Amino acid sequence: MDEEPVVMIEHQPAHVSILGGGPAGLFAGYYLKDRGVPFTVYEAKERIGGNCVTHRHGDFYFDSGAHRLHDKDRTITDAVANLLGEDLLRTSTPSQILYRGKFVDFPLTLLSLIRHLGLTGTIRAATEVLRSMLRGSGQSWESFEDFAVNTYGHTVAERFLLTYSEKLWGVPCVRISSSMARTRLKGLNLRTFLKETVRAKDDTVEHFEGTFYYPKRGIGMIADKLGEICGSESIRTDASITGISHDNGRIATVTINGAEEIAVEDVMTTLPLPYFLRIMDPPPDGEILALADTFHYRSLILVAFFLNRDRISPNATTYCPEAKFVFTRAYEPRNRSPFMSPDGKTSLVVEIACDHGDAYWKMDDDGLTALVLSQLSEVGWVKNDELIDSEVKRMEYAYPVLQVGTEEKTRRILDYLACFENLKVAGRNACFTYTSIHEVLSSTWEVVTGRDV
Ligand SMILES: Cc1cc2nc3c(=O)[nH]c(=O)nc-3n(C[C@H](O)[C@H](O)[C@H](O)COP(=O)(O)OP(=O)(O)OC[C@H]3O[C@@H](n4cnc5c(N)ncnc54)[C@H](O)[C@@H]3O)c2cc1C
Repeated sequence: MDEEPVVMIEHQPAHVSILGGGPAGLFAGYYLKDRGVPFTVYEAKERIGGNCVTHRHGDFYFDSGAHRLHDKDRTITDAVANLLGEDLLRTSTPSQILYRGKFVDFPLTLLSLIRHLGLTGTIRAATEVLRSMLRGSGQSWESFEDFAVNTYGHTVAERFLLTYSEKLWGVPCVRISSSMARTRLKGLNLRTFLKETVRAKDDTVEHFEGTFYYPKRGIGMIADKLGEICGSESIRTDASITGISHDNGRIATVTINGAEEIAVEDVMTTLPLPYFLRIMDPPPDGEILALADTFHYRSLILVAFFLNRDRISPNATTYCPEAKFVFTRAYEPRNRSPFMSPDGKTSLVVEIACDHGDAYWKMDDDGLTALVLSQLSEVGWVKNDELIDSEVKRMEYAYPVLQVGTEEKTRRILDYLACFENLKVAGRNACFTYTSIHEVLSSTWEVVTGRDV
């Protein structure tokens, strides 16, 4: 990655204003710092890290959602390993799906399918998968539902993929873009199935989905380290961008907290795409704004329980697709790294996917905690006498919801923004893509250098 020139705006920038202090913004700053280019990161919240932070509750740590660093891009994994050194752990921890009172391995294995569906049901599911493979290979499906059903068959898709996804995104899977399936279900194929089935008998074989990198004290260590290298003099927190003025095809100023107008040289935005368009002055034409108005982000509520108990389950994540659970998944931070809770104690965090302003979003912390606690007690995961404390966190803009047709709308909006000669767009919510940390970092790299990683 080293020795690349800065070609972000086709010249050596005099100064770059980076809007948003999540992984994308901080990674851009880290790169610019290394090349001696002055920059300022403007972050709305009181801390950096965006959707990728670790919260502290006494001696317990928990992430803003069940995070892991996927080892899918060697250059990025190496870059993070260089940043964190021995603080980056490699872990192999399985995940499961809780369905009708039974735990099913995820990715699916033959044994867990037989346990769940019985022999006849498994043969039916396997026949459906084989038929789908023969019929559907090479086809491009438009919706998540078409992709899932035509790739995995009705039985597997209905039970394990569609109900979960509808709960997560709050939209029927026929309206969700198949690109979400290609991202989320990457690796869920016959090869993985066979590998995982072998693994079930042989624990020396690594879990496909369950092998990942994870920082010792939580995923937030990545952003914290990037921030440390960027330097506090180059980061302004509590600095919400509330206005963008432009003139003659160039971004001219940004307004901070509705009060302070700052002239800018070059700009990189990682802000949610529709929000950025709405604060532009003069505003984009009506067609662009109308496209952006159809974009939707899913919010997330985390409810964390801190427990006087050694362990709840061996799982990295337990997926809970059934509607009877208010949460979509639960995870035990300690199973990612033992440093996430004190010895002999553990914690359990559940994720409730919701829309900003809906009934769950508005429910007070005590109400949410009681609701989740009653459901966790039912499963036997949390007992009242083991409960030390709890905490609720709310996250806006957690997931961009990619609906059928969204990619084309995004392309038109990004084409419009590409006309501003001193503006670059990077990051998950700004590009309206369903990207993981490694993809965000590598695409930010491409934006800053103009080259592939
Ligand atoms: C629940 C959950 C689980 C996830 N799990 C994984 C995982 O296991 N592995 C993985 O690789 N990825 C995971 N991700 C994805 C990962 O978190 C994102 O890819 C990453 O955070 C995107 O970084 P970003 O910088 O593009 O955006 P963000 O993290 O969203 O950062 C954007 C920043 O911009 C700031 N901002 C917004 N508006 C303004 C404004 N007006 N002015 C100034 N600043 C502003 C925000 O406060 C934020 O700090 C997960 C995401 C979620 C929500």
